[in-house]
Amino acid sequence: MLQRSSIDWGYATQPSPHSCLARDQGRCNWARGKVMGGSSTINYLIYIRGHPRDYDEWEHKGNRGWSYDNVLPYFIKSEDNRNLEKIDTYYHGTGGYQTVEFFPYQDENTIGIVKAYQELGLEYVDQNSEKMIGTMLLQHTTRNGERLSTNGAFIRPIRQKRENLSVQPNSHVTKILIDSKTKIAYGVEYLQKGKLVQAIAKKEVILSAGSINSPVLLMLSGVGPADHLSENGIRIIKDLAVGFNLQDHTTIDGVVFALTNYSATSSNAFVQTKYEKEYDRPDIQFSMDTVNVADFYTDPILTYNTALLPLSYYDGLMLRPILLNPESRGRVLLNSSDPTFGTPLIYANTFTKEIDLLRIVEGVKQGLNLEATHMFKHFGIRLATTPLPACEHIKFGSDEYWACIAMAYTSTIFHPVGTCKMGPKHDETAVVDPELKVHGIKNLRVIDSSIMPKIVRGNTNAPTIMIAEKGSDFIKATWLQKHHEQSANTFQLTDFF
Ligand SMILES: Cc1cc2nc3c(=O)[nH]c(=O)nc-3n(C[C@H](O)[C@H](O)[C@H](O)COP(=O)(O)OP(=O)(O)OC[C@H]3O[C@@H](n4cnc5c(N)ncnc54)[C@H](O)[C@@H]3O)c2cc1C
Repeated sequence: MLQRSSIDWGYATQPSPHSCLARDQGRCNWARGKVMGGSSTINYLIYIRGHPRDYDEWEHKGNRGWSYDNVLPYFIKSEDNRNLEKIDTYYHGTGGYQTVEFFPYQDENTIGIVKAYQELGLEYVDQNSEKMIGTMLLQHTTRNGERLSTNGAFIRPIRQKRENLSVQPNSHVTKILIDSKTKIAYGVEYLQKGKLVQAIAKKEVILSAGSINSPVLLMLSGVGPADHLSENGIRIIKDLAVGFNLQDHTTIDGVVFALTNYSATSSNAFVQTKYEKEYDRPDIQFSMDTVNVADFYTDPILTYNTALLPLSYYDGLMLRPILLNPESRGRVLLNSSDPTFGTPLIYANTFTKEIDLLRIVEGVKQGLNLEATHMFKHFGIRLATTPLPACEHIKFGSDEYWACIAMAYTSTIFHPVGTCKMGPKHDETAVVDPELKVHGIKNLRVIDSSIMPKIVRGNTNAPTIMIAEKGSDFIKATWLQKHHEQSANTFQLTDFF
């Protein structure tokens, strides 16, 4: 209901020979929240942080201060976890702005699915601790069962209460103001009620427009790949690899189980396929969406989606194997016919690396083992074996069939990251340094999901909140330090005279 609404930017990927083949015009929808709280206002609410070694890997790539030990306190800082008794308390906190909790009601099918995963040998674990492989009832970014977006959690409590916070709603930022000679960022330009307005920064500019629009805004401001900026007639201030390194968590529509009674979606599992070489890191996540089986099969392009249509009745479960560590990399480019307001060109490049397709197919096959569990039998949950139109020429259930489904009915759980990659100065593919400052530009930071050098093996909202917590400490450290130095200098001068 929230996707493709007025609070969605309404983006879609560019057609590709590898993915989204049976979708409308060969494009997959890539929803992004166009609203206070951004995508956290339209997301599925799942609170998962990623694997500890994901962050160690960031640090290993030259991002000092981003190891799991470094980031864990920031996850805990923002968290107000309402169910400490049911999780591993070492990894969790209370008293932060972001409430995290289990749904107050879990229906019997949800519990049944978790039990079915257990039958397959998966341990019940707190997936936000050191152990991720296993199953769990999900925790969510909700408060008393209601959505708590980052706007609700962090901004609403202080809005109109702090003198140093001014929110300008319904504003479209068109560029960051950067002095081309000094390369100092000094403000932003934005369109509000048809008028171009400028906001001038006293200290620095923070860009948090997300993984599609942060690279777009940098490029519009003269920071990006020189050739692409020139093609669009934009004056180059700094040649940087902006917009590259796009990664996402791909999934597929098409693995449908028919139900005999209702279900909900809050169970989760992380598993390993035979392709995963790391001993404790998952490469596939399983989530379940509710579907109406008849509608599902009569929609030729499968625009059907629980988030698109209100489901007053559902009689199916769609198992989603989600690829956690894609090797394919995409790119975001400006729309040359209208770089400022045109829909950016999203080349997701999904499945351009064959291993990604192999892993998804393997994930499907592991997921199908659920059908043989006592739990699924007990609930009468059966795989729907009608082939989908784009793949009906292939034997149902074969590897080729599932590969066809993946390429035809490609889907996403909307986790694009990486387009303003964090990395040290010597990394030519990096856009920001480990303090999130844009390389070669003064007084400009990017603080959002776009800075992830590599996508984490889990949902991306909690990691983005962590990045924001850490980013705010960088800002404080910079300016409070300068303030102290200035105070100290003033003192010395006073002393001198
Ligand atoms: C449908 C959907 C379901 C998801 N489900 C989950 C989930 O269950 N769990 C999970 O962990 N993650 C989920 N995610 C992903 C998660 O919500 C995002 O990773 C996270 O919100 C990213 O935060 P961000 O700050 O990088 O970008 P965003 O949240 O996209 O925020 C960017 C903000 O910048 C604004 N903006 C952009 N350009 C401009 C401009 N030019 N001028 C003014 N403002 C601008 C946008 O309107 C938006 O408010 C989901 C995402 C979607 C879309």
